[in-house]
Amino acid sequence: MTFSDLGINENIIRALQGNKISKPTDIQIQAIPHILQNNKDLVAVAQTGTGKTAAFCLPILQTIDPKLPKIQALILVPTRELGIQVAREFFLFSKFLPRVFAESVYGGAPIDEQIHNLKRATHVVVATPGRLIDLLDRKALNLDDLKYLVLDEADEMINMGFKAEIDEILKSCKKEITKLLFTATMPKDVKQLIKEYLVADTVEIRINEEELVNEKIEHKYLIYPKSRKLDYLKAFLNERTAQRGILFCRTKIAAKRLSKQLAGFVVSADAIHGNLNQESREKVMRGFKKSRINLLIATDIAARGIDVKDLDYIIHYHLPEKAEQYTHRSGRTARAGNSGLAVCFIKNEELSEIKSLESQLNIQFRPLEVTVPPESEPGTPITIYMNMGYAQNFDKESMREFLVEEAGLDMVDVRNVVVEESRSYFDIPPKYQEQIFLNLKGMKLEHRNVKLTLDAENSKLNIY
Ligand code: AMP
Repeated sequence: MTFSDLGINENIIRALQGNKISKPTDIQIQAIPHILQNNKDLVAVAQTGTGKTAAFCLPILQTIDPKLPKIQALILVPTRELGIQVAREFFLFSKFLPRVFAESVYGGAPIDEQIHNLKRATHVVVATPGRLIDLLDRKALNLDDLKYLVLDEADEMINMGFKAEIDEILKSCKKEITKLLFTATMPKDVKQLIKEYLVADTVEIRINEEELVNEKIEHKYLIYPKSRKLDYLKAFLNERTAQRGILFCRTKIAAKRLSKQLAGFVVSADAIHGNLNQESREKVMRGFKKSRINLLIATDIAARGIDVKDLDYIIHYHLPEKAEQYTHRSGRTARAGNSGLAVCFIKNEELSEIKSLESQLNIQFRPLEVTVPPESEPGTPITIYMNMGYAQNFDKESMREFLVEEAGLDMVDVRNVVVEESRSYFDIPPKYQEQIFLNLKGMKLEHRNVKLTLDAENSKLNIY
């Protein structure tokens, strides 16, 4: 089966070839002819990594009229990263078509700029639901000529609390618009959306129904003894310095903290989480895509829509709360036909959770061993002096919190904190010296660069 057999035109096929895409995937084989020929609503149950974006992007590109400078397709996505990714595919695959313009709009970025961009001829809008409503309220876009409405990762949009916004958007759309709904899972709320807003004889296609998880992924678990999790992670990474992957944490705080704990480590790591502003997120993502960063530390929400090819592994540093999250996370590796490894870091008592994932997802885990150096002696604590004190609004408690949050230390490792007018000092185990210097030195607080020293005399002068 070729793209030409599916009815895709030469110009789009040329663009696909330029991106080394020559053979359609299962979902493309099923969805493309349907969208091109029938123009009927469609539900596709498919995970990320199956080529689902191109499955709707290609037939839409082929059907819209480039000469009509109106929005003809609207793609709703759960996150800005996925939005950028989807708009990028429209851009890449329309390279040899008459000018087709796709714009992505999402929350967390200045709305004025997006309003300005939407004034230009735009054929396709990719949007997060909240921002789209905002833009509609401000009359920044007009959907009168809409032909297609795509709900991409519908289950995830619902999980993220966008149900009310989706209802509002669907209610305001004309009946005759073709609706295409893509979802990895079929929870109750998604079923209800289909029943309420899609035509009654909607076609449903399912990909990999039997194996819920991509079969090219190898599943492993690594048991770490209490208090040695970071050492085990470093040992795992040390054996894979030339590889790249994503590590999942359950919370933003944990993600940020881990990136601090890995400062200076041979495998370069950085974190992407909801607390970062758009500019910082994009900077981290650029670093990861360009391989300046080998390990991306992420929370579940921040990782949605990330499409980076050739990832070797996924680390579940904290186990996911639900089995379907395991599928979503692990689906970031083994994309587009490659194989990959998903590894869960667990304590002995969490083995039962691995068993439960095995039975829910019909997959098999194997144990993974790593060579971990013996635990080093803590050594005599060292005293670190810092040029911040009461004058910068620190007291003992906030200083400890600052060290935990910004340098990634454990609360118990920070001892004997003394805060003075414009300096503070505290004791830490010597193994944290590099970590603390790398994370704090040069940081700006109250217009003052943070400076650190081990030299008590110098610190009194506050000029270090
Ligand atoms: P998706 O499932 O849409 O997130 O796509 C996963 C990745 O597969 C993206 O990087 C696509 O560019 C790529 N891809 C899409 N279709 C194909 C195909 N037919 N052959 C190889 N790679 C593809």
